[in-house]
Amino acid sequence: MNVIPPTSTPTRAAEPAVRPAPGGVSAGRAVPAPDRSTALLRRLWREEVRCHRGRIVSVILLTVLMASLTGLYPLVIQRALDMFAAHDPRILYQVPALVILITAAKALSQYGQTVAVQDLVLIVIRGLQGTMFAHLVHTDISRIEREAPAQLAARFTTDAVSIREAMIRAVNSLGDVVTVAGLVVSMFYMDWELSLIAAVLYPVAAIPIQRLGKKVRRASGGMQERMGETSALLTESFSQARTVRVYRLERNEAARVDQTLDLLHLALLRIARGRARVDPVLEVLGGSAVAAVLGFAGWRAALGGATLGDFSGFVAALLLAARPLRALGSLNAALQEGLAGLERVFAIIDEPPEITEAPTARALPSGEGHLRFESASFVYPDGRVGLDGLTFEARPGLTVALVGPSGAGKSTALSLIPRLHDVSAGRILLDGVDLRALRLSDLRDAIAYVSQDTLLFDLPVIENIRIGRPSATDAEIRLAARAAAAEGFIDALPDGFGTRVGPGGQRLSGGQRQRVALARALLRDPRVLLLDEATSALDSESEALVQDALARLRKGRTTIVVAHRLSTVRSADLVVAMADGQGVECGTHAELMDADGLYARMVRTQAFATSA
Ligand code: ATP
Repeated sequence: MNVIPPTSTPTRAAEPAVRPAPGGVSAGRAVPAPDRSTALLRRLWREEVRCHRGRIVSVILLTVLMASLTGLYPLVIQRALDMFAAHDPRILYQVPALVILITAAKALSQYGQTVAVQDLVLIVIRGLQGTMFAHLVHTDISRIEREAPAQLAARFTTDAVSIREAMIRAVNSLGDVVTVAGLVVSMFYMDWELSLIAAVLYPVAAIPIQRLGKKVRRASGGMQERMGETSALLTESFSQARTVRVYRLERNEAARVDQTLDLLHLALLRIARGRARVDPVLEVLGGSAVAAVLGFAGWRAALGGATLGDFSGFVAALLLAARPLRALGSLNAALQEGLAGLERVFAIIDEPPEITEAPTARALPSGEGHLRFESASFVYPDGRVGLDGLTFEARPGLTVALVGPSGAGKSTALSLIPRLHDVSAGRILLDGVDLRALRLSDLRDAIAYVSQDTLLFDLPVIENIRIGRPSATDAEIRLAARAAAAEGFIDALPDGFGTRVGPGGQRLSGGQRQRVALARALLRDPRVLLLDEATSALDSESEALVQDALARLRKGRTTIVVAHRLSTVRSADLVVAMADGQGVECGTHAELMDADGLYARMVRTQAFATSA
């Protein structure tokens, strides 16, 4: 649970044409239709490309320059051969100098063009990734929890790669078009009759190419999805490495991963086969065109006509045009793969968050943290009832313990307070104001959350604590750490407060992590403290330290605690016993023991841990 306040909730104008279908889009399977493709490209241009004017201009200039220089090659060959046939002595210095000049200029422009294209494409991808993350970091927790973290991460890697490749191909195709155009001009300049034959023959190639493009498109269906699934499965398997070994699940895991890898392998193979067919087909078609031109030229030469230079220059142009034409032929397939990735990325960006700030949202009024649940209900997106009409009041400065059997809705109730979810019915008030009418940042600034199986960020300890209040000074952080009984062990770390804690905080013990989290909460000095008590007990020494720090933290603020320890429940001012999402009993420990209901039964059956 993350209670870091967002700075803003991004709202992006959604493009109706590319809005995801209800239930989400798996664009890997759904290939964009042509009009949708245009809409996607237009949107990409409008939102991410257009703003890079300087880069676009340099790409265009360098591309045109490079392509035009290629167009000069056949003319040089023509000139050289004509001079050669005429025994012109100038061939000795004119032609070599010209060749060196043109190739040097082309090499330079080619280098510049490649760098410029990459520069443009990479900055666009970077922009898309930034936009996507900015959306995901603010979006609803239920959206994030819908997919495995690795699957979400794959949007930033595999999808980005497919978009990047398609964009590079698309931008380079501009160069190919200019190159072909330059060569066509050269060809018409040298021999218009032969040019006409080539002009008729080449477009014939477009038909099989289109068919192949469609095949590749179909084959690319689901490939990106498969990538995401695979990385999700691998992440899960590695993060459960301990369980896998202890329960000897190695074989099961290997089989599970094998199955997914097989599917991925098949998906990749299908694409590779489709892609592999494009080039040979183009080769054969191109060859046929060259053969036809050569045949016609030979026949015409027999009748007496063009010079050797004309003919050679023309064939050179024809052969030079083959590569860019082939690239243009396979462009469609590459483009479709990128569009599928782009659609998935935009689908994420367009998902409207459900937890939003009302336009009339108001600042949190001054108060002491008076919290009221009024018939609060919540239904999870899958239809399961999390909370069903819960009512209780947490008066300022007091501690309310939520108790109940597993699945009673305790964590759900806790998650409604910082609006990780919104109530589906009823309401929750903080200092007299409905949570949904408050500014989200104000609400979350007023709350601290401590889970007892805390995960930390892979940052130095000091930064992990500073999350509580970013403006805090180092001295204040040290004070908070002291109050949380964490100062001693932090100072003993290799770099003291500057020690990085490792992913999730794994370089610290469970008790140390908790105390860092407590220091963070102390630093925040919240109006409302949310505690999710762990079921597992720590060793008694850390336990005592943590409990001491907790007691300090709870003082002077409203605390809602999901309690698993009898000591915590006893020390609470109010106990709310929950079952099936409802509050079935409410009162002090003594009152509820007297009432001899659910709570008393839980105490008698030792449902609570008694370690502290
Ligand atoms: P525990 O003590 O075991 O943590 P709890 O009292 O905190 O349980 P909740 O986690 O609030 O219970 O769950 C309440 C109900 O909501 C349960 O029936 C649970 O299955 C369901 N639930 C919880 N989280 C989700 C979710 N993300 N999606 C769907 N249903 C959920």
